Amino acid sequence: MTATPQHGFRALTGMRDVLAPESSRRRALVDTFARAAQAAGYHEVLLPLVEDLGVFLRVGEATDVVTKEMYDFVDKDGTRIALRPEMTAGSVRALVQHKPLLPWKIWYSGSNFRHERPQKGRYRSFDQVGVEVFGVDDADLDVEVIALAWRFYEMLGLRQVRLLINSLGEHDDRERYTEAVRVYLESRRGELSEKAIETLGRNPLRVLDSKRPQDQAVVIDAPKVADHLSDEAAEHFARVRAGLDALAIPYTLEDRLVRGLDYYRRTTFEFVADALDAAQNAVGGGGRYDRLAEDMGGAPTDGIGFALGVDRILLACDAEGAFPAPQPTMDAFVVDMVGGDAARDLTHALRSAGMSADRRFGGGSMKSQMKSADRSGARFALLVGSDEAESNEVTVRDLRGGGEQRRVPQSELIDDLRNHL
Ligand code: AMP
Repeated sequence: MTATPQHGFRALTGMRDVLAPESSRRRALVDTFARAAQAAGYHEVLLPLVEDLGVFLRVGEATDVVTKEMYDFVDKDGTRIALRPEMTAGSVRALVQHKPLLPWKIWYSGSNFRHERPQKGRYRSFDQVGVEVFGVDDADLDVEVIALAWRFYEMLGLRQVRLLINSLGEHDDRERYTEAVRVYLESRRGELSEKAIETLGRNPLRVLDSKRPQDQAVVIDAPKVADHLSDEAAEHFARVRAGLDALAIPYTLEDRLVRGLDYYRRTTFEFVADALDAAQNAVGGGGRYDRLAEDMGGAPTDGIGFALGVDRILLACDAEGAFPAPQPTMDAFVVDMVGGDAARDLTHALRSAGMSADRRFGGGSMKSQMKSADRSGARFALLVGSDEAESNEVTVRDLRGGGEQRRVPQSELIDDLRNHL
């Protein structure tokens, strides 16, 4: 057993507890996403938090997420496993394992883990909501998926989110393009930051993402992916753009949007929140990918998806004054001045009848019990004093509006409340 530190244990670096009312806000956010996704025919999938390390290696051998930031360890039986850093890999693993009927349209929500340097908007444990669709190679699906994320941001009340899109072309286009970028960056190697030079060796396209001014001065003249698209990929991208236009979803074409994973092809997109600091303003992203199912031993299957960062979306909501935490609500709060039997029995009866009800333990003055009633967000206070107890009645006080009150026989209480709620 390890010793308890002097000031008690604290959550690990980059990991946070979420308490009420923020926890209610998160739940409401996920519920909102669930509504948007289910309204578009997506079904929820619950995936394990840990997978065989190989599942994640397949997805991003050249990415920081996988090479440096993974929480991987050896399990008791010697298997190398890892906490999920994202949910696409697990989704593809599940696709290959269960062979569901295609198209398979799924949504998910949950925590992911990356050993990053924590700062505002960047944590080691963070939540995402997202979707994946397998088995459809149609540009209109790209539009559907993007529109779903867009609608979700709108439902939250966010007004300062921008959509950036790009096409990386087919696998071969991407390879040719990567090579062109590599040759170009090598020719200007001396001007790049040390970090960029290191990335260049592993994943040249990732250098295009660099936010350092020194690198950006070089990146600005890099070859453009649009000049490397095959006819087929260009046509697909034109149809995606036409679809977004038709749905009146504004977007910016962003040449530099390559995203981290090797498997992206054709459409890639990102959502940025202008209300957040530029360093941490990506509130979601996604794109089409191929070969993942094959790499995990399945049949070749088209895939597209996105993941949206819940923590950052909530920061953007704070910055825009959108999607506040829901107020606590309660149907009734029992204020028992005669020893506690009424509080015990009435809360139970009300809950059994499907209403929400709470009480205070340990009694206390009428004033302090009424304070608790107010804090609970209760619509009605149910007062039981000696008078009421004697006549088997309850005084029902409306805590909203004018504070009217009425005396109701206990036997009629549930019907009475139902009529007034
Ligand atoms: P990614 O899987 O890297 O494409 O990330 C998708 C979204 O998840 C990003 O746009 C962010 O909103 C969010 N995200 C990624 N990493 C973190 C992190 N370490 N902390 C908080 N949010 C994150």
